[in-house]
Amino acid sequence: SADLSSLVAGRVVGRFGKQADVQDTQGDIVRCHIRRTIKSVVCGDEVLFARSEVPDENIGGVIEIVQDRRSVLTRPDFYDGVKPIAANIDQIIVVSSVKPELSLNIIDRYLVACEDTDIKPLLVLNKVELLNDSEREAVLDALSIYKDLGYELLLTSCKSSEGITTLHERLRDKTSVFVGQSGVGKSSIINQVLPDADELVGEISENSGLGTHTTTAAKLLPIPSGGELIDSPGVREFALWHLPVERITWGFVEFRDYLGGCKFRDCKHLNDPGCIIREAVEEGKISQSRYENYHKIIAAMAEQRPAFANRL
Ligand code: GDP
Repeated sequence: SADLSSLVAGRVVGRFGKQADVQDTQGDIVRCHIRRTIKSVVCGDEVLFARSEVPDENIGGVIEIVQDRRSVLTRPDFYDGVKPIAANIDQIIVVSSVKPELSLNIIDRYLVACEDTDIKPLLVLNKVELLNDSEREAVLDALSIYKDLGYELLLTSCKSSEGITTLHERLRDKTSVFVGQSGVGKSSIINQVLPDADELVGEISENSGLGTHTTTAAKLLPIPSGGELIDSPGVREFALWHLPVERITWGFVEFRDYLGGCKFRDCKHLNDPGCIIREAVEEGKISQSRYENYHKIIAAMAEQRPAFANRL
């Protein structure tokens, strides 16, 4: 393998089969092979690569080292349990909208999945121009629990452009991903910050000499007003369905202070009288809505996964 001193630093901006596109510090993109001993290379990875000595029109180097990841987004995988899909992400933008109807349960599911990754979420509520004043007040009231928990909330509209300037600011100097249910307006919002995103993400990679591959793998895209976006259909499907029950409980941040104090060993906090979490709900220290959604998430997981139900 290569002499370490000749290695060059770069960031993976796309993965194509057995190759990856790496952007070097000058901003040039080099298509690289990946050293066979490397277990995983995903979009967003910081790598060291060796430039090819004999320049080839297709392949410009070999990735030799993947640096430790600051954070990683995973998806369930049939063989490996979970599989990384993107790395070194600074924030997950959780998009929901007032149409179809706002669902706190879905917001809670995404927040649990975010807490598992340790990547900071930003809640975005889209299509707010559809609300009249009193509806807007009611929605803000319902969402105040998230502000109380320390989550930032941004109201946006692709129709009136409300919140879009603030969104640009929140994206600056960071690597972000957008997640959320279909129909909430992710593509519309992404198009406001990155006008060519659809084509860029759906792009077919160039003919590499090893055949032309179509790819749905994640891509890292620079945002003209600052910051970077990692996007792919897989990234947008980010969810919590692979998590064990302990991680779900941990994902409710306001439960954490109580977890050690429950007098029932291995308590799943599912409604036993005397459970410390239930008491905190009764005392108004934990929101009823969050507690109910915790139960709904656990029940939905148990229905979907027999192995999960066995652990309850
Ligand atoms: P995605 O599935 O999350 O990517 O959602 P899309 O971006 O495809 O948007 C779904 C629908 O919502 C489309 O018909 C959009 O035109 C519409 N939409 C997106 N943003 C807004 C908004 O701010 N206000 C309104 N009224 N509609 C929006």
